Amino acid sequence: MRNMTLIILFLACAVSSPAQQNSHASHFDGDSWWAHVKFLADDSLEGRDTGSEGLRKAQAYAVEQLQKAGLEPAGVNGFYQPVRFNQYEADESKSSLALVTAGQSKSLSFADDAFINTRSTRASANLSTPLVFIGYGLQIPEKNLDELAGLDLKGKIVVYLAGSPSDIPTALASHYQTAGERWKSLRAAGAIGTISIFNPASMDIPWSRISVNRNHPSMDLADAEFNETPGLQLGVAFNPASAEQLFAGSGHTFAEIAALGKDRKPLPHFLLPVSLKANAVIQTKTLESANIVAKLAGSDLALKNEFVVLSAHIDHIGIGAPINGDRIYNGAMDNGSGSALAMDIAASLKTHPEKIQRSILFLLVTAEEKGLLGSKYFAAHPTVPPKSIIADVNVDMFLPIVPLKVLKVGGLEESDLGTRAAAIAQSMGIKPIADPEPLRNLFIRSDQYNFIKKGVPSVKCDVTFEPGAPQQKIFKDWLTNRYHAPSDDVNQPVDLQAAATYEEFTRRLLLDTANTPARPRWNPDSFFRRYAADQTEMRTSDAGPVKTTEKPEQAARPGAAEMERLKFYLGEWDYTETYPNGAKNTGVYTSKLGPGGNSLINTFHSQGPAGDFEGLLLMTWDARERAYKMFVVGSDFPGALVETGQFEGDTLVYRSEFPMEGANLKLRNSTRLTGTGTLESEQFMTMKDAPERLVVHVDAKMRCFR
Ligand SMILES: [Zn+2]
Ligand SMILES: [Zn+2]
Repeated sequence: MRNMTLIILFLACAVSSPAQQNSHASHFDGDSWWAHVKFLADDSLEGRDTGSEGLRKAQAYAVEQLQKAGLEPAGVNGFYQPVRFNQYEADESKSSLALVTAGQSKSLSFADDAFINTRSTRASANLSTPLVFIGYGLQIPEKNLDELAGLDLKGKIVVYLAGSPSDIPTALASHYQTAGERWKSLRAAGAIGTISIFNPASMDIPWSRISVNRNHPSMDLADAEFNETPGLQLGVAFNPASAEQLFAGSGHTFAEIAALGKDRKPLPHFLLPVSLKANAVIQTKTLESANIVAKLAGSDLALKNEFVVLSAHIDHIGIGAPINGDRIYNGAMDNGSGSALAMDIAASLKTHPEKIQRSILFLLVTAEEKGLLGSKYFAAHPTVPPKSIIADVNVDMFLPIVPLKVLKVGGLEESDLGTRAAAIAQSMGIKPIADPEPLRNLFIRSDQYNFIKKGVPSVKCDVTFEPGAPQQKIFKDWLTNRYHAPSDDVNQPVDLQAAATYEEFTRRLLLDTANTPARPRWNPDSFFRRYAADQTEMRTSDAGPVKTTEKPEQAARPGAAEMERLKFYLGEWDYTETYPNGAKNTGVYTSKLGPGGNSLINTFHSQGPAGDFEGLLLMTWDARERAYKMFVVGSDFPGALVETGQFEGDTLVYRSEFPMEGANLKLRNSTRLTGTGTLESEQFMTMKDAPERLVVHVDAKMRCFR
């Protein structure tokens, strides 16, 4: 019996005292971040519209900060990469929209019913055209979805409800809802224009607020290579509250369509008895803005030629229609917050230098609000060789408006960069989750999408809440009232601690990605992996002669992602074992990375009334068994013991079973993080058919270094 007790106690301390990085040693306090946000969101910067003086001031400030942090210029003109744009504005006084039924014309109100969307209407147009309702208007070959099948769309304007059916995976749905992808199939079918009805179930902003800014000019990159909607003559945005008139006489109602759309059910497709008479007068002009590119050079001779990109858009939407008497759309969270973070992280890397093997590129893009244009230009014309960009960590409106307990990792399931982001969050006591609101298309709605399309694994992470938690209302209210409104300013409540923790998370993700030997990889089943092949083509055509300093892309090591998940152990921990009889042992546990990062090497030592236990633990991922293996070696124990483990949700569970004193002994150990730098671990045992009982409970707290 003594042997068995020893083994159990031994395992208890062994498995129970894991460690992690010093996660409460944050490099950030929230104050410097807030100071940058205050500068960027000041009224004097007039909402940082692309091409405006306000944006130029913000950029000059950013360059000054990045320079102060010791970064090198990596643009075309120093830190700047100039970008040229065309701007489009509808002249509503000379334009009109009307629905025509059996010769009867009923004009539409731009403010209340429908307006000319200059994002898709790039030249004046005068049309009178039949309408066809095409459901969500999607053609998704991967899912055998063809909503255009059997419809004659030649010379017609199509009407669709924004959204997608629920059986289409988020990423796929997002991809096919981009303007360019949508138009490819519509154009091939002969359509000449679109009416998009907002989906009431997934509108971030009420119609009244969308409509009030409808005359804000839209932009596109000036170079013809970027025109994604050739042949599209007219794009109209329709208020769902007015959409019933489109369906009059069709045998269907919009109420019926909206109800189906709310549940993401398949939609019918049919000819509409009404046609659209449109006279769109569009004015164009050209203007110029710039991206900002700065470099922190890596130290590894070969790897420093590879880049991890930290991107954030610095532009916002400028001056617009007044709301509560305020015309300046300050964009404090969107995206003063992300730009401030980039400056703050750069400064922290100067104050607390780290060993960084790859280089980090700080990219503050322009014209995100105009349709991800600055990043689109950069991705097409990067200022470093395209092949050298290994990852994009994009930060846009991460919303530190509640304490950071749950982190939404956009792209979590797409690449091992997503896995790594989740593991780092977990190691800080933050729960990582995938996007719980796929209807909002967030993974393609910010600048990371332009990197994704070039094959670069990317993530975008945001502070969030447990679905159904009370904080959900805080976020909903924020989107309704402050998103793209003048009240996204510095007079709003912000959680500085959450911002600081998010910055620490981002800093770790950047460093970890810069220092991990393998480049991030798309998961084999990721939809976005298709673009990685395009990147290879782009590399040979765009990148010029391949430089000898560039290494061939390293294959991701099998098990790299799984080992990543164990990294929450890394560091030094103090722990207390509590036994059912009340006895308490205390000890110290350390965890280091083994050779090549393929294992964790852990040592532990506890002492107290329960005994003196000292040992060594080797943890690794076994690719053949697809399980974690743990080899346990201890002071009083002959040979080694082998345990097999898996994550069950957030909890790492190791099990083993072996004959002992004529019976079968089963052990189960479960370990999980309980907060920032704290974890608990419990050891259970079962003999024969007896119920499982607790052998020991362990609480561990990470030590602070520095
Ligand atoms: Zn934004
Ligand atoms: Zn925005």
